[in-house]
Amino acid sequence: MEVIAWGTRGSLPVANPGMVQTGGNTTCFEVRSICLPPGVHVVIDGGTGFLPFANEALRLGMTELHLFHTHYHHDHTQGVLIAPPIFMQQMAMHIYGTKDRSYGPKQVYERIMEPPFHPVSFGAISQHISFHQIEIPPTRVILIHPEGGQVILEKERFVHSDEHKRPVSFGQGRTFPIDECLVVQMHWTEHPERTITYRFEERPTGRVFVLLTDEEVRAGIPVSLIEFISGTHLLIQDVQYSQEEYEKGGKAGFGHGTPEYAVRLARATGVNRIGFTHHDPLSADGRVGALVTEGQALLQPDETLALFSCRDYDRYEV
Ligand SMILES: [Zn+2]
Ligand SMILES: [Zn+2]
Repeated sequence: MEVIAWGTRGSLPVANPGMVQTGGNTTCFEVRSICLPPGVHVVIDGGTGFLPFANEALRLGMTELHLFHTHYHHDHTQGVLIAPPIFMQQMAMHIYGTKDRSYGPKQVYERIMEPPFHPVSFGAISQHISFHQIEIPPTRVILIHPEGGQVILEKERFVHSDEHKRPVSFGQGRTFPIDECLVVQMHWTEHPERTITYRFEERPTGRVFVLLTDEEVRAGIPVSLIEFISGTHLLIQDVQYSQEEYEKGGKAGFGHGTPEYAVRLARATGVNRIGFTHHDPLSADGRVGALVTEGQALLQPDETLALFSCRDYDRYEV
């Protein structure tokens, strides 16, 4: 499994000579997996990094796109509004997200693509899009199989089938083993908006990736989140602020993380590789790098936790 960081900036896209190493595109991470059928691409969030993602995916022959939304803040949707896939009637496009207030993914796009906020009315171009509104994300599991395509299961049914090694129905009489699938599980994050963290398990290789963005520092980490993250080979986590900014700079309650929280989460879950993301739009490269140094300074000599800054266009083998 490979993860490509197409956008690692938080809150607002930026272009600044002091930020070229990190990049300025807002949140967009692609997941590439041997479990994806030919022509199928998977991406988490549609910040401005979605535009370079889409251009590259189209160059590679993308015919089907699965877009998983953590939530609907502008820095996670804006790239979708101007990139080609949403206008391409021949593109099989799936958009996943939860319901916040009265907005599921379909209502969100209807609203943000409504004139005068957008030049083209969403109703006129949206026939090729399937919306998957996940009301309570921890109760559902999404499977993608290289021949079967995609299916959404109730968590209980998934767990039962997984325990008993029963194949799962992908419709039209076709069944496939879970162990051949990319398994996508979901957990709430603390933003405070209703926000999802996604866990991708590539079953044939056993490799696991989690994106935990727009997650506020938690004083106590819930057992369910520890279980959700445990066994992850690569965790990419929101570390927008230093401890000082968080404690004394008035950033507490903004829905973002710190190096201290990342290290504490790693210790609780046993994760040993964390990439920091959702970089502050005012943070130049030096300040982004200083957050990694701050996290490393918290480690004991015998701890083997690898911390690094995610940068636009970097690729990570999971
Ligand atoms: Zn954000
Ligand atoms: Zn947000």
